[in-house]
Amino acid sequence: MKKYFPRVFGNVQISDRIGTAIESGRMPHAFLILGPDGSGKHTLAKEIAAAVNCGRLGNSLPCGVCSACKRIYDGNFTDVKLLERPKDKATVGVNAIKDFREDMFLSATESDHKIYIIADAECMTVEAQNALLKVLEEPPSGVIIILLSTEGDKILTTIKSRAQTVSMERFDQSELSRLASEISSDARELKHSSPEKFAAAIMGADGRLGEAIRLMDKRFSEGLEEERSVIARIVRALRRGTPRAELISATNALPQKRAELLSELELLTSAIRDMVAARRDGGVHLIFFSSREECLALAEAIGTKRLLDCADAVLEANGHLTKNANVTNVIASLTARLNSN
Ligand SMILES: [Zn+2]
Repeated sequence: MKKYFPRVFGNVQISDRIGTAIESGRMPHAFLILGPDGSGKHTLAKEIAAAVNCGRLGNSLPCGVCSACKRIYDGNFTDVKLLERPKDKATVGVNAIKDFREDMFLSATESDHKIYIIADAECMTVEAQNALLKVLEEPPSGVIIILLSTEGDKILTTIKSRAQTVSMERFDQSELSRLASEISSDARELKHSSPEKFAAAIMGADGRLGEAIRLMDKRFSEGLEEERSVIARIVRALRRGTPRAELISATNALPQKRAELLSELELLTSAIRDMVAARRDGGVHLIFFSSREECLALAEAIGTKRLLDCADAVLEANGHLTKNANVTNVIASLTARLNSN
C-alpha cells in the first residue's frame, strides 16, 4: 500500500485522506491544521507542500529525496512560503496578510502550485483574517493556503467554512516513549542516563511528539536551566521578610524579549502552582521543582495567600504581554505587584 506523508508520525487517517486527494487532483485549496505546539502541524504542512510538488513516482508520497522535496524541507523552495508571527509581536497584522495575498496573484516560478503556510493563525487580527477571507472566497488557481493554529476558536467561522479542517492527534505515553526514542538520539541517551527525567519529559509532553523531543533536546535543557535559575531567584525573594531590593534585583534578570518573557512567566506560574499544590496534596506531581522538600519549605516561607496573589499578578502580566504592552513596563508593574503582597 502507498505510504502518504512518511514524515508525519501517527495521524494515519488524516495523511491517507489528504494524500489520496492530492493524487486524484481533488485537492482542497485551503486547510486549517489544528493542534497544540509540538503536535506536528508544521511537518504536515511541509509534507503537503512536498507531495504537491514532488517530482518522483514511487511507493511513498512525497518521496523525500527529489530536489523539490529536499528544498521544501529546507525552506528553499520559491513557491512555498511561510508566514509566522514576528517573535516580538503578539499578532499577525493585516499588512503581512495583504502582502501575502498580493503575492498569490503572481504566477508560480518553479511549479504549478503556490503554497502559503500561515503559522500562528490564531494570532491574526480580525482585520487580517478578513483580508485573508477575500482571497479564500476566490483563490487564484494553483494556490493552496495552509493555516496552522493552536486555537481554532480564534479563527473566524467564515474562514473555517472555506478550509478543510484537520486536527492532529495526541499519542498515549507508551507510544510517545517509543517514537521519541526512535527518532531522537538525545532521547535515547536520556532514557539510559536518567530514566526519571525521560519519564518526566514524556509526561510533560502531554501526547505531543514534537514537544517530547524538544523537552529531551540537550541544548533546550541547558537553556531551561538558565531560565529556571532566574525563576528560582524570584521565588526565593518572595519569602516573608526578604528585603524588597532582592526581588527588584531578581526580576531585573527577566528577559526583555516578549516571547522569552512569556516563557519565563509560564515557568513562574508552574513554580507557584507547584508550591500551592504541594501544601494541599503531598503526592502531587511537581512540574518546576525537582525537590519536594525545597518546594514545601518555600511554600511555607511565602504562605498560600501571597502565592495566590502572585499567581494573579503573573496572570495579569501575561494578559498585558499578549495585548502588546511594553515589555519593560510589564516587568516594572509585575515587580511592584509582587512586592506589594
Ligand atoms: Zn519528491
